Amino acid sequence: MSGPTTAAVIVAAGAGLRVGGELPKQYQMLAGQSVLARSIKAFADHPGIAHVQVVIGADHSQLYDAATNGLDLPAAVIGGETRQASVKAGLEALASLAPDYVLIHDAARPFVSPDIISHVIANLDRHDGALPALPLVDTIKRANGSVITETVDRKALYAAQTPQGFHYGKICGAHDAASNDSDAEFTDDASIAEWAGLSVVLVAGAAQNRKLTTADDMTQAEQMLTNTLPDIRVGHGYDVHAFEAGDHVILCGVKIPHDAKLKGHSDADVAMHTLTDAILGAISEGDIGAHFPPSDDQWKAADSAIFLREAARLVAERGGLIAHCDLTIICEAPKLRPHVDAMRQSLADILGLPAGRVSVKATTSEKLGFTGRREGIAATATATVRLPIE
Ligand code: MG
Repeated sequence: MSGPTTAAVIVAAGAGLRVGGELPKQYQMLAGQSVLARSIKAFADHPGIAHVQVVIGADHSQLYDAATNGLDLPAAVIGGETRQASVKAGLEALASLAPDYVLIHDAARPFVSPDIISHVIANLDRHDGALPALPLVDTIKRANGSVITETVDRKALYAAQTPQGFHYGKICGAHDAASNDSDAEFTDDASIAEWAGLSVVLVAGAAQNRKLTTADDMTQAEQMLTNTLPDIRVGHGYDVHAFEAGDHVILCGVKIPHDAKLKGHSDADVAMHTLTDAILGAISEGDIGAHFPPSDDQWKAADSAIFLREAARLVAERGGLIAHCDLTIICEAPKLRPHVDAMRQSLADILGLPAGRVSVKATTSEKLGFTGRREGIAATATATVRLPIE
C-alpha cells in the first residue's frame, strides 16, 4: 500500500520590494540561482513531495519563466490581492490531484531543510496541521508607543515559519470559510486553520529557514552561499566569423548596423559564441559545437542566447555560479564603442548577472591580419566559475 500523497504550494505572488532592487525578492538572484528556484528545488527534490504548485503575481509570468528555466514544473497559477487569496488559488489548482496533504511555503524561505519538510509531513498522520517554529530568545516587551507597558512571558511564544502542512481537504475547507468571512484577515495558513478549529502542532524550525526580507538578508545569504563554492575555475573561449553581404551584425544579442553581416549557421553572434565556449570550458563540458551541432537544422538562424543560457544552466545544474565574464571583440569595423554598454547589459540579462560581473571590450588589430583586412570579426573571452567541492 502506498502512503499518503503530499503536494507543495509555493507562494511567490508578493511584490517583495522591501529588499530593494527592481525585482521582487523571489526573482532576485542568490549566488547564481533565483530565490524562487532555490525554494522550488527544496520541495521538488524531496522524496516525500509528489507535486509542486507555484503561485505567482499577475505580471510575473516572464520573470517566472526566466527564474525557473530548466526546472520541470506544471504551469504556475496567478495569485490574488492578498497572500490568503494567493494560497487559495494554489490550493484550488490542486483540486484534480486531490493530495492527502499539502505543504504551503513562502518563496522567500529558500533555505528550508529536507528534515523540516519531513518533520512537517510526519506530524500530519496525527494532527490536522503542523508547522516549524522557533522559540523566541529575546525578552519580549509590550509598549505603548516607545514606553514599555509590560514584559511578556516568552516561554509559550514561538515565531512561525513555513512550510505549514495540512490535510488537504481540511485546509481547503478552512480557506473557503475564511474567504466568505469578510472580517477575517490572516497572515499565515496556521491562523486560518486555528480560526477554523483545526488542531495544529509545532515542530522544530531552524534559524537558517528565515524569511529573506531586507537587503541585508540578501547580502548575508549571498555570502553564505558563495563560501560553499570554493572550487574556482577559469574557462577560455575563442571564435571567428567571416563577413558576407548584408546590412548588420549581431553581437551579444545587440543588432549593430554595418555594410556586411556575419556568416554562420545560427545568427552568427561571434561574441556570444565565444563567451558560451568560455563558460563551457570552465566546467569542462566541451564546446558549443558539441552541444548544438551546426549539422542540426534546428539551430539554423537560431538566437545565440539559447546557447549562452544552456551554458549557464549547466553551471547552475552543478550547483555553481558564474562569478565574472570578460569578453574582447576584435574588428576594424563596425565601430563598437557606442554599443559596449548595450552589449554588456544584454549579456548580464541573459546570464541573470549584475552588469558589474560582465565586461565587454572592443579593440582593433591595427589593420593587421584578417580582422585588419575587414574580412570578419574575432572574439576572445574568459569566464570565472565557482563550483562546490565534489
Ligand atoms: Mg561561432
